[in-house]
Amino acid sequence: MRLVVTKMQIPFGNLKRQYQNLKESIDNATQNVFDSGWFILGKEVQEFETNFANYCGANFAIAVGSGTEALHLSLIACGIKTGDEVITVSNTCVPTLSAVTFAGALPIFVDINEQTYTIDPSLIESRITDKTKAIIPVHLYGQCVDMKPILDIAQKHNLFVIEDCAQAVGAKYQDKMAGTIGHLGAFSFYPSKNLGAFGDGGLILTNDSKLAETVAKLRNYGQENRYYHSIKGFNSRLDELQAAILNVKLPLLNSWNEKRRAIAKRYTEVFSPLGIICPTEALNCYHTYHLYVIRVKNPSRFQELLKEKGIDTIIHYPIPVHLQQSYGECRHQSSYLPITEKLAQEIVSLPLYPELTELEIEYIIKTVTDIYQQLS
Ligand SMILES: *Cc1c(COP(=O)(O)O)cnc(C)c1O
Repeated sequence: MRLVVTKMQIPFGNLKRQYQNLKESIDNATQNVFDSGWFILGKEVQEFETNFANYCGANFAIAVGSGTEALHLSLIACGIKTGDEVITVSNTCVPTLSAVTFAGALPIFVDINEQTYTIDPSLIESRITDKTKAIIPVHLYGQCVDMKPILDIAQKHNLFVIEDCAQAVGAKYQDKMAGTIGHLGAFSFYPSKNLGAFGDGGLILTNDSKLAETVAKLRNYGQENRYYHSIKGFNSRLDELQAAILNVKLPLLNSWNEKRRAIAKRYTEVFSPLGIICPTEALNCYHTYHLYVIRVKNPSRFQELLKEKGIDTIIHYPIPVHLQQSYGECRHQSSYLPITEKLAQEIVSLPLYPELTELEIEYIIKTVTDIYQQLS
């Protein structure tokens, strides 16, 4: 390893760098949309839906306005309504729950597995009531949930399974792509996700033609044909400009995910022997490291010291959803969530993205090593 002496500034993400690398093809693609004069639900969106469905191996893809809306429309398509219960985790990004509460349902939280940080399937059945209608497994940080037991439970209790794939585009569970395992898979193209648009965007995958038809209507005011509305719907569409950008980026996704995995492997090889708890890849899973989340004893001090050395870090997430002010009605579920609450006190996410340079990776490895040793 080269000796790194000078201080570097490493932001948590670097979307400018990604654009610079793709400038010509993205500028061309967006210019074509401007020139076409067609901006909503046109050929770019159609092409992206086809490309994405093929990439994942699903029958239907319906592009929508955001990941939150992908979840929300999925819940509505499953008939989830006021008073229903939806099982999910509290260790997630709040929008998972925005979708649940916007559909009028009550979130029922299940604790996580301490190795994978995703839902612990063995705890689900005790939380099922006669109001339970769906489970939302969240493939967090780029790792798929252990889906087999969830599918068994769902079948036994007649529940819908809606995968939250916002952080897991390209991830695999056994030989299946995230988003093709449950009844529906909801994706986000928020700019910082592994496949990001230049604004908001989302998509729903399903193999069920009826659900696909319903979701396609829901995103477009419930419209069957122009000005004939068979159901009550919303406005939630990916626009042509975003689809054109995503059409440029999708062919690069696998190589980006491979780069993320390679960097994660290097981090773990150095950090794990030091005693830092590093992310692990579950058996038969393909982790795409949307986030590289480590556990340390004093995360805020650790973050401060890294900041002094120019390395930005973030905590995903500092406050579990059931402890958020806005979800006060869920606070009483705390007793079910000891691992979720403990984890939030220990986690820090390090910068990890395909555009990191070799020097930056070395700098992060060396600096994290120095600081961790200094703290322990
Ligand atoms: C980003 C994210 C969402 C929401 O996606 P948006 O496109 O921002 O609405 C939902 N769930 C998880 C786990 C996410 O990380």
